[in-house]
Amino acid sequence: MRPPLKSLRHCEHNVAKSTVRVTFLGGLGEIGRNCLALEQDGRIVIVDAGLMFPEPNMYGVDIILPDFRWLIERRDRVDAIVLTHGHEDHTGALRYLVKDVNVPIYGSALTLGFARHRLTEAKVAKDLTFIEVTDGERRRIGPFEVEFIPVTHSVPSAHALAFHTSVGIIVHSGDFKLDLTPIDGRRTDISRLAAIGDEGVALLLCDSTNAEEPGFTASERSVGGALRRLFLERPERRLVVACFASHIHRVQQIIDVAREQHRKIALMGRSMESNVKLARKLNLLHVETADFIDIENVGQFAPGEVCVICTGSQGEPLAALSKLSRGDARNFKVGGDDTVILSSHPIPGNEWSVGRVIDDLHRAGTEVIHSGNEPVHASGHARQGELRTFHQLVRPRNFVPVHGEYRHMVHHADLALTMGISEKHILICEDGDQVEVTAAGIRRAGQVPAGFHYIDGSAGDLDERPLEERRMLAEYGVLQISAGVDGERGVIIQPVSLTARGWFEGEHDKQLLESVTKVVRDALVSALSEGDRDPLSLNKVAQRAAGRILGQKFRRQPVLLAAIVVL
Ligand SMILES: [Zn+2]
Ligand SMILES: [Zn+2]
Repeated sequence: MRPPLKSLRHCEHNVAKSTVRVTFLGGLGEIGRNCLALEQDGRIVIVDAGLMFPEPNMYGVDIILPDFRWLIERRDRVDAIVLTHGHEDHTGALRYLVKDVNVPIYGSALTLGFARHRLTEAKVAKDLTFIEVTDGERRRIGPFEVEFIPVTHSVPSAHALAFHTSVGIIVHSGDFKLDLTPIDGRRTDISRLAAIGDEGVALLLCDSTNAEEPGFTASERSVGGALRRLFLERPERRLVVACFASHIHRVQQIIDVAREQHRKIALMGRSMESNVKLARKLNLLHVETADFIDIENVGQFAPGEVCVICTGSQGEPLAALSKLSRGDARNFKVGGDDTVILSSHPIPGNEWSVGRVIDDLHRAGTEVIHSGNEPVHASGHARQGELRTFHQLVRPRNFVPVHGEYRHMVHHADLALTMGISEKHILICEDGDQVEVTAAGIRRAGQVPAGFHYIDGSAGDLDERPLEERRMLAEYGVLQISAGVDGERGVIIQPVSLTARGWFEGEHDKQLLESVTKVVRDALVSALSEGDRDPLSLNKVAQRAAGRILGQKFRRQPVLLAAIVVL
């Protein structure tokens, strides 16, 4: 639940001249809604503004945002938003933030392209300033000199950031892996990171997603090899490959393998189409227009002549792959001639929906290949071996793990310890924590509100309370009690009636409902005889009476609503 705004003020204090304050607004304790603020001399630069997708029991919640109120209160002091890369967990909340904090947005051409597309769709892009940066560029942003260091990740053109501050350099790794054979040849700039390490790094903020995993993450290129073999083994079959629409290098590899086999390529899914278009425009994706066919024309080709690239690898119910699995897709259907490859790994929380999609595809007689049975996916995040390398290059004086669930950050802190940083220079922080960095070290400096900000597509903002009510309704159902009372005579004139949803059913419950009706009637009669004529009080009488008898019969009870009308 979000505390009221006035409570934000008393955690404020002046930051000394030779101090940089970092405020973590999201992404520390969850994978998603990444956002933090760096502050020096009273000026603030925001790094990323991402969203998070809800868990299945967050009924009706479409997305979860960081709590931006701390930033909005200080909007006059905010100079810029800097984006590390184009993933939704780093850019998806921009359309909410920029309504209140309209400052220049910095990022690579592709990062800004993806962000701008979403902001345009949301009709908030018009008055915004986008400033494109190139690899290795160093420029003044707010109170800092900021360097954009190329890193490899599961979206092209991702950056680590080096903030040159009054207390030394603060490095933010962004999301990264150390892929030495990336598809576009753009490697993580290891030599620059080492040089920055030589200059002296005051603080490292580093991606913790895979900090539990030993070893090294496989190169993206290894996925291409697996796809090539799977394609070659299936010359007569139609191949449908699902992956993230932002994963341009994966799309490139699928396209390359399809072209080698002289297959035509069809794109399916709105974001796949728009991202491919943008990546081609930026010269980040190489394919001839003649290689494409319209998804509507897939049926005109033999199965072995076609490759479909689609969205929905996370089992999203409205995306292309889900529609295909249910036979709901307008343009073509999958069946016994098709092989579907899920070139992805389910994000925690999505396993169930991915499982449903795979089941439905089997029901349609389709062969399904996924990361559980073939190496058709590689993570975009560094494992322990790469994290150690990163730490060794940067050699920070202080360290805060970011971008991870709590256990990931704990493992990352342990790793930092073994890399020689002393315990008092490592802090495990969570959303809302503030830390101050000085020449002497790092210390906790307070907390700001940073709870989940739920967005319900139809109703807008949503707090914890209605969400809790939805959970209760979903789990326990609802029982509505109504009756009409003659206020003058103190008698029931419209009989007690019950309406149930989500629980009561059948003959056995009919008897139960009859006894609830009787108990409620008796309780009302008794309250009326004592002179009670207040509708709210009579509602309570009815709820309590029903609750008592249901509580005796069951360990749990439905949500009880009462509408006793005094006429
Ligand atoms: Zn991320
Ligand atoms: Zn990412």
